[in-house]
Amino acid sequence: MSKKVLVLGEAREGALRNVSFEAIAAAKTISGGGEIVGLLFGDSVQSLGEEMIKFGADRVITVEHPHLKHYTSDGFSQAFMAVYEQENPEAIVFGHTALGKDLSPKIASKLASGLISDVTAIEGEGDDAVFIRPIYSGKAFEKVKSKEGLLFITVRPNNIASLEKDDSRSGDVSSISVDITNLRSVISEVVRKSTEGVDLSEAKVVVAGGRGVKSADGFAPLEELANLLGGAVGASRGACDADYCDYSLQIGQTGKVVTPDLYIAAGISGAIQHMAGMSNSKVIVAINKDPEANIFKVADYGIVGDLFEVIPMMIEEIKKI
Ligand code: FAD
Repeated sequence: MSKKVLVLGEAREGALRNVSFEAIAAAKTISGGGEIVGLLFGDSVQSLGEEMIKFGADRVITVEHPHLKHYTSDGFSQAFMAVYEQENPEAIVFGHTALGKDLSPKIASKLASGLISDVTAIEGEGDDAVFIRPIYSGKAFEKVKSKEGLLFITVRPNNIASLEKDDSRSGDVSSISVDITNLRSVISEVVRKSTEGVDLSEAKVVVAGGRGVKSADGFAPLEELANLLGGAVGASRGACDADYCDYSLQIGQTGKVVTPDLYIAAGISGAIQHMAGMSNSKVIVAINKDPEANIFKVADYGIVGDLFEVIPMMIEEIKKI
């Protein structure tokens, strides 16, 4: 059976996040040829609709309201339910982002539907689709098949390849008006920490430092390497607890989950809680003085050595390319 699929796009600072396009690709796989309807909520998102269409959506519905400028679960769930009632879809796809993780259980509960969260791959297509998701902090994967009824999934960023952008695609971008009322909280302003560089959760390359980096200044060579590779800097909780860097960089069970193409772990021992956030990276390079360090068990390439010697050598070689 073909399915109409609603895909929630996510915008940040006037641009769509990549996970929006990955969610469209997942929607195509499960739709069985059905219609893909992109959704955008915000105070000024109309102009982003065409981008979703170029990446595979058939049409886009926007809901614009001053109260949707910043995400609140109340505001976004009101906007979503209004579109849901209008469209009556057979499937829903969100990104497994901070927003998606917060909103999806609320919507699933309102719709009394199931929710297959944190999908990292899809086997098969249409009604035969089987969803693969990590369990036990990434130590195992389970395969889940949806029963009949509404299919609702969230997709982990950086795991499902988005479709090629096709500039020749066109489709309708329409807006519906929703009265966003009775909000329990209204966000008047968001003060961001400086967010220079690449978003850690979507970065293709992550250079992460641990307690072995020894100081805040010790992160400088890691930053230089990350910049050269077009990537982002991350950290273990050990490094954050030691005040070498901000907790927003923490990767792991209680930090961010990342799945870059390349993860370079420098001075990180490889505690199970850290590995929960990075072990699904495509290629892992570990640099550690201790040949017995646990991180080498998940590394594709292990370098036993002092990170303050190894990283400058890497930088020097990359600069030659
Ligand atoms: P360490 O374990 O101290 O390792 C430092 C490593 O650096 C060592 O292997 C050492 O050989 C190496 N080293 C030292 N100097 C050098 C050098 N010059 N060159 C190369 N290598 C060097 N941790 C996380 O990371 N993320 C989480 O989300 C997280 N959540 C947690 C949740 C709970 C409930 C608990 C209990 C713990 C959690 N932890 C988490 C903490 C985790 O258990 C570890 O304590 C932490 O990951 C250790 O950080 P580390 O590897 O940087 O430090």
